[in-house]
Amino acid sequence: MDEGLKAETHCHTTSSDGRHPPDQVVLEANKKGLDFLAVTDHNTFRGAVLAQRAVKLRGLEKPVVIPGNEVRTTKGDVLVLCEKPLSKIKKDPWDLRDLADENNCVMIAAHPYSIIEPAVGDFIREAPELFDAIEVWNATNLPFLNSKAARVARELGKPGTAGSDAHVKEEIGSAYTLVYTDEGSVESFLEAVRKGDIRPVKGLPSLTAVLAHLAWGVKRRI
Ligand SMILES: [Zn+2]
Ligand SMILES: [Zn+2]
Repeated sequence: MDEGLKAETHCHTTSSDGRHPPDQVVLEANKKGLDFLAVTDHNTFRGAVLAQRAVKLRGLEKPVVIPGNEVRTTKGDVLVLCEKPLSKIKKDPWDLRDLADENNCVMIAAHPYSIIEPAVGDFIREAPELFDAIEVWNATNLPFLNSKAARVARELGKPGTAGSDAHVKEEIGSAYTLVYTDEGSVESFLEAVRKGDIRPVKGLPSLTAVLAHLAWGVKRRI
């Protein structure tokens, strides 16, 4: 497929700190024409499992849900996207890499230069072998910090992903990754990430999405 399939590679649901349940996130992704949806709740595959169930129950053709998890490792946040949800995770990045290899998962450094979220930063230079790709555009991160991530990805020869890091459904798909594969399966998605047959598409959340995100942030703190 020449134009590539659209993938949201980073989002949250009520299974961690997101506002909307997996079912609503799936519907939103479908409405926005996303082919793949990696649900990446913090330290759990629960959101992804529920999202897969929602797609089935509603009989939707799209999106294909990629079981994901944003693992807070001892070095910072890492997106782990897998063929199937894992029953356990590891906080040590090297142990996590072993687990990823055993289970057909890819590891992506999330917002590596974020100054707000725990991020791996220059650790990607120290242990590049741990990462299949680098999130070079995170729609909630400051653009100059994303640029730094993109520069390092280029230097290290790593594929780059873009994702919304949505915590409210309005943000879903505000940035996405094009995946060059003919087949809309989880396996082909993972294979394309590994081979670097992907392209990050930068984007920012709409004003409505930004306001919804802020409102959710305030509500969560009360
Ligand atoms: Zn994060
Ligand atoms: Zn996140």
